Amino acid sequence: SNERPTILIVARLPQHLLDLLQNNFTCHNLVLDQLSDDQLAVIAPQVRGIAANGEAKVGREFMARFPALEIVSVFGVGYDGVDVPAARERGIHVTHTPDVLTDDVADMAIALMLAVARNVVRADRFARSGEWKNGPFPFTTKVSGARLGIVGLGRIGEAIARRAAGFDMEIAYHNRSRKDVPYTYFGDIKSLAAAVDFLVMITPGGAGTRALVNADVLEALGPKGFLINVARGSVVDETALIAALKAGTIAGAGLDVFENEPNIPAELAAQENVVLTPHMASGTLVTRTAMADLAFNNLQAHFSGKPVITPVPD
Ligand code: NDP
Repeated sequence: SNERPTILIVARLPQHLLDLLQNNFTCHNLVLDQLSDDQLAVIAPQVRGIAANGEAKVGREFMARFPALEIVSVFGVGYDGVDVPAARERGIHVTHTPDVLTDDVADMAIALMLAVARNVVRADRFARSGEWKNGPFPFTTKVSGARLGIVGLGRIGEAIARRAAGFDMEIAYHNRSRKDVPYTYFGDIKSLAAAVDFLVMITPGGAGTRALVNADVLEALGPKGFLINVARGSVVDETALIAALKAGTIAGAGLDVFENEPNIPAELAAQENVVLTPHMASGTLVTRTAMADLAFNNLQAHFSGKPVITPVPD
């Protein structure tokens, strides 16, 4: 076991991935073992790999504690917690798990859109509770044929567009750069918001997209517009969103991600015109298993002297 590379696990990871790591590497778990700073200092010189997730903070100073660090493997496609430029300076590989989760996240974007527009969660309570006996359920909002704006037309954004095409939606998008696709391009998010009924956020997180959805964008989306966020909590100004939901500035929101997970402001949770899910867009058994396999295989490839499989882009 002396030749086994030492891996530091810095996030809550699924058991399947922990098993793969433990069966192949010498593992220390910062989360489960609650390592103190002193304990960490003892193992730090041995650490050659870090296993993280999309939320774990793997910053410059943290990585500086591990002089033998060679690779950070992120369980997730988003890697906004990792300081990639700092890793690059030291030649540390950073890998993530693109593609394997695309279908599930796109499915959840559509699920949230339908759930909030058709008021599915409220309707379920209405049916269960017997309220139905007092009269019919209030009218809801039609999704088929409506106008959809996708912010972040990448792997997942395009999968959302393909699904929305099946609902005969008019599809438009905003990216920093125009793509060769049959959808209408908007160079800024505010004019896209003004032109659609549903605005779906599916960009990466991090500094480049922080509060992309602010009070102005919500105002542009308007009282009949719905916001769907399956990207990162950081892309929406949550305070502005709560104000807009309360004032009826927008019609409603379907949210899988939040600014301060797992904490959701009580004011947001109290709103009737929202559907909230606990950052589970990629959370099917088959996909989380595929993500775990890929996160492990990146480490395994690297420590077998092979190129990593899915490095983060430049
Ligand atoms: P991609 O890299 O394929 O797509 C990202 C898209 O966002 C690109 O089209 C890019 O286009 C666009 N983009 C980047 N920065 C900006 C910006 N500042 N303004 C507007 N558009 C921008 O990634 P994926 O589709 O695979 O994943 C997208 C994100 O989804 C992940 O990074 C993650 O944050 C989130 N996610 C959430 C999950 C969940 O559980 N809720 C699960 C999986 C992913 P361009 O470069 O031209 O701007």
